[in-house]
Amino acid sequence: MPLSPEQKAEIESQRAGGERTLRAVSPGMEARLYTAHEVLDHGFVRVIDYMGDDAAICQAARVSYGRGTRSVQNDEGLIRYLMRHWHSTPFEMCEVKFHVKLPVFVARQWIRHRMANVNEYSARYSILDREFYIPAPEQLAAQSTQNNQGRGDVLQGEEAQRVLDLLRDDAMRSYDHYEAMLSQDGQQGLARELARMNLPANIYTQWYWKTDLHNLLHFLRLRADAHAQYEIRVYAEVMCEIVADWVPAAFAAFRDYRMDAVSLSAQGAAALKRRLAGEVVTQENSGMGAREWREFQEVWG
Ligand SMILES: Cc1cc2nc3c(=O)[nH]c(=O)nc-3n(C[C@H](O)[C@H](O)[C@H](O)COP(=O)(O)OP(=O)(O)OC[C@H]3O[C@@H](n4cnc5c(N)ncnc54)[C@H](O)[C@@H]3O)c2cc1C
Repeated sequence: MPLSPEQKAEIESQRAGGERTLRAVSPGMEARLYTAHEVLDHGFVRVIDYMGDDAAICQAARVSYGRGTRSVQNDEGLIRYLMRHWHSTPFEMCEVKFHVKLPVFVARQWIRHRMANVNEYSARYSILDREFYIPAPEQLAAQSTQNNQGRGDVLQGEEAQRVLDLLRDDAMRSYDHYEAMLSQDGQQGLARELARMNLPANIYTQWYWKTDLHNLLHFLRLRADAHAQYEIRVYAEVMCEIVADWVPAAFAAFRDYRMDAVSLSAQGAAALKRRLAGEVVTQENSGMGAREWREFQEVWG
């Protein structure tokens, strides 16, 4: 269980409260606020706070004095124009703050996104919980033979069981030793900042992560992508659903012009034009390397 009954009660009381505000409010995001969306076996994502909505993006783009008199259709058109033409600063006017609970090895990938503000749970100050990510059997895959950064077939039978047993046993043994080193029962007890160093990378950590919509969409473009590791992708996918509720027009434009869009190199565009003109284009006469050609073929056939 990612949340204790006390934590759930705290969230319920936060959600029960409410104050009138003059600030922009997104109904879709209000419905999400504070709620923990479970991810992996012990993780979650929840929105702690946000600023702005679709209208705020347009307001900033027009540098207007109020919420303006333009229609929703006008706003959607403007947002799509901004996204299409990489006019990104209006999207930076929206902000969001998440509380995320995630395994440390996922946090290492996540923290590479530098355009965010982070405050992590301190394992110098506090004792970490005995919570480790153990993959579901269908995620326990072999090394991919095609992609050095990917997974192949799902492990089966005895091998799968042996791997699961090793993961669980190692995690429990490390945590037992962590507790033994911390213990002040008949001994001084090792400092928390040192005892934590023998914990494996599948232990859970937590942080508050705040960023603006432009950088969040960049994060989602990379991490909700099929090439991202499953364990970070599942967080990004939940965050996509949240963003779709928060700024529906911006998210639709992002989906159309970034997530589901295809970009072409100069050589790719030339090859496509030649194909449309009826020419047979091969890798050899395309000007593309083998890998780029394979990627081109995957999209265009
Ligand atoms: C599928 C995948 C595989 C990856 N594999 C590896 C790997 O093998 N090894 C590895 O080390 N990393 C790897 N990464 C991490 C990757 O290289 C980036 O560090 C990560 O995705 C963060 O991207 P970012 O720098 O664009 O994001 P952010 O740090 O959030 O930055 C957002 C944008 O701000 C600008 N910016 C930020 N900081 C600077 C700066 N100092 N100078 C100039 N511009 C800046 C850039 O325009 C940048 O795109 C991988 C990422 C993915 C998605």
